[in-house]
Amino acid sequence: MRVTAAVACLFALTSYAVDAGHVLRGYTPEDSATEVSWEQKFRAMPDADRIRENMRRLSARPHHVGSPYDKDNAEWLLAQLKSYGLDAQIEQFSALFPTPKMRKLELLGPEPFTAKLQEPPIGVDPTSNQTSEQLPTYNAYSRDGDVTAPLVYVNYGRPEDYEVLERMGVSVKGAIAIARYGASWRGIKPKVAAEHGAVGCIIYSDPRDDGYYRGDSYPDGPMRPAEGAQRGSVMDMPIYPGDPQTPGVGAVAGAKLIPLDKVQTITKIPVLPISYADATPFLKALEGETVPEAWRGGLPFTYHVGPSTAKAHLALAFNWDRKPLYDVVARIPGAKDPDEWVIRGNHHDAWVNGAEDPLSGTSPELEEARVLGQMLQQGWKPARTIIYCFWDGEEPALLGSTEWAETHADELRQHAVAYFNSDGNGRGYFRAGGSHSLEAFVNDVAKDIQDPETKMSVWKRVRLVDIAHGTQQERTEIRSRGDLRIPALGSGSDYTVFVDHLGIASVNLAYGGEDEGGGQYHSVYDDFYYYTHFMDTTFSYERALAQTAGTMVMRMADADILPFQYADLADTVHLYVGQLKSLAEQKRDEAKERDQEIGEGVYQALVDPKKTMVPPPAEAVPPYLNFAPLDQASDDLTEAAKAFDAADAAAEGVAPEGLNADLVRSERLLTDSHGLPNRPWFEHLLYAPGMYTGYGVKTIPGVREAIEQKQWSEANTQIERVSAALEHEAELLKQATKLFPAKATTEIAAEPGMHRSEAQ
Ligand SMILES: [Zn+2]
Repeated sequence: MRVTAAVACLFALTSYAVDAGHVLRGYTPEDSATEVSWEQKFRAMPDADRIRENMRRLSARPHHVGSPYDKDNAEWLLAQLKSYGLDAQIEQFSALFPTPKMRKLELLGPEPFTAKLQEPPIGVDPTSNQTSEQLPTYNAYSRDGDVTAPLVYVNYGRPEDYEVLERMGVSVKGAIAIARYGASWRGIKPKVAAEHGAVGCIIYSDPRDDGYYRGDSYPDGPMRPAEGAQRGSVMDMPIYPGDPQTPGVGAVAGAKLIPLDKVQTITKIPVLPISYADATPFLKALEGETVPEAWRGGLPFTYHVGPSTAKAHLALAFNWDRKPLYDVVARIPGAKDPDEWVIRGNHHDAWVNGAEDPLSGTSPELEEARVLGQMLQQGWKPARTIIYCFWDGEEPALLGSTEWAETHADELRQHAVAYFNSDGNGRGYFRAGGSHSLEAFVNDVAKDIQDPETKMSVWKRVRLVDIAHGTQQERTEIRSRGDLRIPALGSGSDYTVFVDHLGIASVNLAYGGEDEGGGQYHSVYDDFYYYTHFMDTTFSYERALAQTAGTMVMRMADADILPFQYADLADTVHLYVGQLKSLAEQKRDEAKERDQEIGEGVYQALVDPKKTMVPPPAEAVPPYLNFAPLDQASDDLTEAAKAFDAADAAAEGVAPEGLNADLVRSERLLTDSHGLPNRPWFEHLLYAPGMYTGYGVKTIPGVREAIEQKQWSEANTQIERVSAALEHEAELLKQATKLFPAKATTEIAAEPGMHRSEAQ
């Protein structure tokens, strides 16, 4: 029997530990008691010192794709997993991974300058001097190029920044765009610059965003020093991630490669990341008007939009080689349902030494595997198969996870129950994003993990922190809604292929928010010295991550009925549909207002003869969209979810034949094998990285992006597709509900309190 609401509330107030009377979602009372006792054993075992030692070992040398230490780390991980008694192997793939052959950036004209393009060793930091093994600062999958042109400052380089430039009468056509890091994924910056006619792109780290403006600079503090630069991929991953030459299929030996000149995802213009020390002369050379206030960075001079009279010269050439990828995969066979797979992953490759990204996630993951090995020796037998993955090649383009999942796509579509990802970790609050059928599950687990600092549950702590930082509306919702909302996943880590391509329910999790992280992101200084001085220095949140992810894996692997819950999913869909309607209305209002202002002569009144001001063009007022199918599907899903969750709760963990197979399919039904418009690899109809946000998620992306891009008939077409998928999901839940014994279904359906408040 499920614990009553009153007991649950009281319980949450008094203790973080699992109470003996508490029955886990999806478990019979007996199985729940057994599971709780194994989970408590599990959570007692992760050892902060071992996690620290894992990190020290794995971060000792640079270990990017194709480097000697990348392979060495994979072999070491394999040996560790075997020593824990696990059945492990390395699965090898290959992928296109360009590395720099030549990088040159100069300012020509009266005050010439050549960018150093180097992060110097720092005395106190013992691995920062491993220069012969470090990858130079560059953006992977920039095209080769040699351009000489004036500069234009484009702020963060998002589409809306170009609208501002247009109004100021400034064009990047034929220019080199200089953008600052932040606010959007870096790959969007050269993409949008090229769409506006720029011939090259420079991306620099402004101290306002991750340097001295935020805190003390490294090595006195955690923030980026003057010569620190951010490496990173600029591949057009919103089209498809993974090996650019084998979209949709695994890059195994003998795979057919599409030729380099046919690859869609390499940038259209050359792009290079630089430090603010290198950027300063280029920014100072900009002329023209002063930038708008929101565009100002933290450097001590006036920022101008440009263009510059002095020209910049950017020349880049790369080795376009294919490099080996070493994914390390360990399998614990399920004792009862070996054909249902629970998958856990974190990448092991880094841009350089990568202590924070990724090893603060990899090191706890390895500790989880060790502890699970111990538990197996003590007699624990997971019901389902558990697969622990240590991915290679995440940094360039999610290469290792994508090629593995594409290779095993048919098996995964059939067998995968859920995927749990992490990718770095810090000190602070529990954060998780993911599939909303797992929202209740994520909340359940977080209630059972103790926060190392406050000793309250990590769930309670983040709930209170969100109340403290929320708006009035958010506070009201948090206080009235049982589960904390989890955000949808965009992209930027290895869950992408699982959720977006294959429709496998996924969760991404991490702790953070208390350490001033991010300052050394993708630089040579993200290393063991940095992490152990400025991040989770006691490794207590590293231990908490192992406890949290391991508990999720165990609880999912052992459940009698898979602990999916659909009221949260239906509530979230309802919320998204409301957002889409407001967005369409907002576009209509904006167009009407603009046309009215043009008619009134507002723009003539604003003309300042000393400045350039271009009025916006008049625009047709968008038509009304037909949201009726989405409203209907959203209602049908809500009804079906309510009935299913009630029947599920009443079943007390006794699984009818065939039920779990239906639940495994439930996330798949939210996909469409034809994919999203212009990017068929992305098959999920509720979640995708935005075409112009990169990592940032677009929910119900087919409809939302059609509205944003003012493609009104496309929006109506996409509404029909999403509605059809939601109706199928509702139908599946109705069928699944019928599998439960009739008595339980009717009895519980009348129980009050199952209905959730639907927040907007
Ligand atoms: Zn990472």
